[in-house]
Amino acid sequence: MQITALAGGVGGARFLRGLLAHLRSSGDPARREAQVTVISNTADDITLHGLRISPDLDSVMYTLGGGIDEDRGWGRSSETSGVADELAAYGAQPSWFTLGDKDIATHLVRTRLLGEGATLSEATARLCERWRPGVRLLPMTDDRVETHVDLAEADGSTRRVHFQEWWVRLHAAVPALRIEPVGAATARPAPGVLEALREADVVVLPPSNPVVSIGTILQVPGIREALVRTSAPVVGVSPVIAGAPVRGMADACLAAIGVPTTAAAVAGLYDDFLDGWLVAEEDEPPVRSGLEVRRRPLLMSSPAATADLAGAALDLALELDRKDPAA
Ligand code: GDP
Ligand code: CA
Repeated sequence: MQITALAGGVGGARFLRGLLAHLRSSGDPARREAQVTVISNTADDITLHGLRISPDLDSVMYTLGGGIDEDRGWGRSSETSGVADELAAYGAQPSWFTLGDKDIATHLVRTRLLGEGATLSEATARLCERWRPGVRLLPMTDDRVETHVDLAEADGSTRRVHFQEWWVRLHAAVPALRIEPVGAATARPAPGVLEALREADVVVLPPSNPVVSIGTILQVPGIREALVRTSAPVVGVSPVIAGAPVRGMADACLAAIGVPTTAAAVAGLYDDFLDGWLVAEEDEPPVRSGLEVRRRPLLMSSPAATADLAGAALDLALELDRKDPAA
């Protein structure tokens, strides 16, 4: 069985760890031996202090490879801040993005490889040689895409900042007028991405941010079309529980695109290709012919609960049939 997942950072990574736990402990040989390909959002990427940083790729790689800081959900475990302290002593800006010492080694390796002419796919494969995440981890594109956000200034003008500045420095507390993955329109899917969607037996959308994680992946030309056309059932897990994002500020992202923070409205963003959707008991299920909805506990509160959630997503997918995708 070939499973392909689209993923952002922390939410995607946690779900994927549950999916792998579910698969590897399954009594069903098809599940136990299933291969997972992850198409990662790269629109959060940013260059800081000359280093190329890919937060979502790294969250998946560290989480699945056993190197994640469990409490924060991102960054390396047992991290130290010697470099950051020295940068602060120089007054080097920006200072709002945390770069731990161990994490910096990852960015050094990536930046050097890219500087030598490697693609992001190649650099990611090289980093994964160490972490062995147990999935094939693909960036959505090897082209540079960066999400920028337009903010309204008090004097009525508009200021454009990198997504990370809005998210990390401003905590998305300043309303976004517009969120744009710059470069996405001309980006090409990375090698293997379209094939992974076309040849999948199941496609899964973890509960990643629907705007700045899944939404940006979908803006790379060809990816959305591949989801519409694949013969694999596409199932997703709502990132909204009881009308609120569980962690993070996804509601601020949804507001920026004029979409209410409900499980049904998020499903609506995937209307043209979504076959199955898991919603929490507290939420109103979306109603659309052809969309199968199941109510499940969606909180990834423990590894076991997350494995059960991933198993429920797979169960739903395998119940669904998409024999006639053109219809
Ligand atoms: P990021 O790139 O690090 O922001 O991570 P993702 O985009 O992959 O995931 C962020 C989303 O995960 C948020 O919008 C949350 O609503 C969602 N999320 C986080 N924890 C949970 C959980 O326990 N259950 C569900 N259903 N969603 C969650
Ligand atoms: Ca992210």
